[in-house]
Amino acid sequence: MIPVDFHCHSFLSNCGLHSHLELLTRARELGMAALAITDHGTDGGGRLTGGFFQRLHDPLPGIRLLKGIEANPRGLEGDSDLPLHHLPRMDIVLFGLHGTIPRDLGAERNTAIVIAAITAQPAIDIIAHPTAVEFPLDFLTLARAAAARGVALEVNNSKLHLQRIPEAMMHDMLRACMAAECRVVINSDAHMINEVGRDIEARQALAAVDFPPELIINDQAERALAFVAERRANKGIAP
Ligand SMILES: [Zn+2]
Ligand SMILES: [Zn+2]
Repeated sequence: MIPVDFHCHSFLSNCGLHSHLELLTRARELGMAALAITDHGTDGGGRLTGGFFQRLHDPLPGIRLLKGIEANPRGLEGDSDLPLHHLPRMDIVLFGLHGTIPRDLGAERNTAIVIAAITAQPAIDIIAHPTAVEFPLDFLTLARAAAARGVALEVNNSKLHLQRIPEAMMHDMLRACMAAECRVVINSDAHMINEVGRDIEARQALAAVDFPPELIINDQAERALAFVAERRANKGIAP
């Protein structure tokens, strides 16, 4: 189990099943320190509400709610569906390639889109599931660009757990991160409460390539929350 999970979906994403309180209750039962709820941006069908960002503050004692989003590219030049008016209330911003762009662009073009996004929008903290069969990426080029901007690449446990990618693909991404000294986060990408905090398959992948623990952001709660604090200035929030 990861002490801080930076990626999960409530029923405000079309693909999620549970309420915010159900997800937080599960995370608290597991003994986690914090859970980020990161529903999809509106281009990906997410129903982001102002109430969540403006009025819901740590509704359950004993577990910290981090507010976030999983944003999508809008066009091919670095724009996204990140709602800028909510940005100062966001703890974590994920950006990932989804069906809002064509699936046949190829690795070079896909990589250029992601790098354009993290260049144009410094609020992006984490690249969600760089390992996706539908959207191949040049891992080394991406890892170098991400490391230069303090952005982390995600070790997405769901992709491995649900066997949606070959393990070798994850190993390739992790080796690129090691070569570029790019930090990673282990995320569940939970859509069901039984997946919250799950890291079993991600840990196996990290062990398989002997990944250095110092490049893992959310191994410990303090380091994970320090990453959130480190990135606050990029969202227009005073440190
Ligand atoms: Zn996603
Ligand atoms: Zn997701």
